Amino acid sequence: MQMKKCVHCGNENIDTGWILSAGKIAYKSDKLKYPLEGGNVRSFVCTKCGYLESYVSEEYLDKIE
Ligand SMILES: [Zn+2]
Repeated sequence: MQMKKCVHCGNENIDTGWILSAGKIAYKSDKLKYPLEGGNVRSFVCTKCGYLESYVSEEYLDKIE
């Protein structure tokens, strides 16, 4: 998935990046046992109003479906 247009203000100038912590942010489903089985999270921000959307990688979605 990718954010093409801001759902908040309608702006189409969207920047792509990562939400930073000590490393990249990952999502871990309760369905998977091991703590390192996280999916990468990609984030998109509206350059006008700052609205942010994040998506877990499709490969990870396949694992937890
Ligand atoms: Zn916006």
